Amino acid sequence: MHSLKFNNTYVTQLSSLRFYSYVKPAIPLTNPYLISFNDIVAEMIGLNKSSNLEDLLCANVLFPGSVPVAMIYAGHQFGYFTSQLGDGRALLLGEVVDNEGNHWALHAKGTGPTPYSRGGDGRAVLRSSIREYLVSEAMGYLNIPTTRALSLVGSKMAVYRETVETAAIVIRVAHPSAFVRFGTFEIFSSRGQHLEVKQLADYVIDHTHEFYDLRDKSATTKYSEFLIQVARLTGYLVAKWQIYGFTHGVLNTDNMSILGVSIDYGPYGFIEDKWKDYIPNHSDGEGRYAFDKQPTIGEWNLMKLVTAFSSLVSDEHYTVVSNMYWKTYEDHYGELMRKKLGLVTFLYSDKLLWEELLELLDANHIDYTIFWRKLADKNKDSTYPELSSWFVKYEKRLALEASYGQRSRTERMNKINPKYILRNYLAHTAILKAQKDDFREVNKLLRLLRRPFDEQPEMEQYSKKSPEWAKKLVISCSS
Ligand code: AMP
Ligand code: MG
Ligand code: MG
Repeated sequence: MHSLKFNNTYVTQLSSLRFYSYVKPAIPLTNPYLISFNDIVAEMIGLNKSSNLEDLLCANVLFPGSVPVAMIYAGHQFGYFTSQLGDGRALLLGEVVDNEGNHWALHAKGTGPTPYSRGGDGRAVLRSSIREYLVSEAMGYLNIPTTRALSLVGSKMAVYRETVETAAIVIRVAHPSAFVRFGTFEIFSSRGQHLEVKQLADYVIDHTHEFYDLRDKSATTKYSEFLIQVARLTGYLVAKWQIYGFTHGVLNTDNMSILGVSIDYGPYGFIEDKWKDYIPNHSDGEGRYAFDKQPTIGEWNLMKLVTAFSSLVSDEHYTVVSNMYWKTYEDHYGELMRKKLGLVTFLYSDKLLWEELLELLDANHIDYTIFWRKLADKNKDSTYPELSSWFVKYEKRLALEASYGQRSRTERMNKINPKYILRNYLAHTAILKAQKDDFREVNKLLRLLRRPFDEQPEMEQYSKKSPEWAKKLVISCSS
């Protein structure tokens, strides 16, 4: 049986109803069926596969010990403050403690209305649930901090978007603090509830490994160092996004995890044959959340977080947090870029090398992922004549560390340059099949994306450029 041990610290430690509302899913998901079950995440949290799991995994039936709540938050959406948001279609089912004592929050998305639904139906459609489910796995195996996904449950229940679609529920899994958003602090600060800002920060500090060092600090340094640590975690995360070409699409402050974890997947996309102005979200006309804007948006969002902490820290923190963010971002990005290039040693001028390369890739519409993988095999590649002068510089640079050897360079590069990413058209193909009740492609992609760096000869076609028709794919906020 599913003998999960629940210990819901978010509810027991933050006992005020200002932080959440108790919600029992009111309208059950009609005839739920299991589309995919993530054995690896299940094992991580100590859940065994058993019969009738689908009722639990869509919250029609609650796990023993689960006390579901909808978390409240606010947020800056596309630059403007919305004073109250919250889990409008998601529920924190509770926290499971694994055998090593780690806490994992189970967060179900698509469970129906909550007090924060603002007129929405509280549902998620199959299409967006498949996208969230698959990208969670893809990100996890690219070593990018992310919420994981435990399960995908479907139903024939109708959900009305631009057309009639069907409902689905994904259970996301992450450390409980990962579901605390920048906007969770913003809501209390904007309401003048400064005690709650402090209580929430204390909760995160006391319950999260990444902040344990701060537990015994005095109030004068604790919140200052808290923000600095959030800046580090965020800088580290955004560097990884930029390295792998991941574009979130909706980087509102309510979609920024305090733990530097990718969260709330919607109209995301990986860059393909151009990165400048890559805007995955069709509804983002201005390109506020374009791929190359993400680093500055990360800083912008952190500045809103500093504002939310204005009762606890001085104004100098705008500068201190910004500096720490950029330093972490630049350091980590540089470290990873050198690895992508197969470099072992550090030269300041390396930055010029990769900046020139990125410009050339964009200008010549060269597929980002395929390029890096090919670069590992050879120094010079005749299929990229546009890059010939760049290759001369690259070879000169490699010659400076020739003693490390070509073979080991290839091996090292293939551990950071993935062969397989979740291209939008791959997800789209799996969605079309799933909408006809064929879930094999969803599960096939799940397995594929668990080994993004491995050669998988039988899956070779999944590493190719997106077909021409994929250019017409439109991904909007509708989900
Ligand atoms: P998102 O774009 O998914 O990050 O959602 C932004 C806000 O809108 C969050 O507060 C969501 O809970 C809420 N929301 C999104 N879709 C729905 C829906 N179908 N029903 C109720 N609330 C929703
Ligand atoms: Mg959100
Ligand atoms: Mg959401």
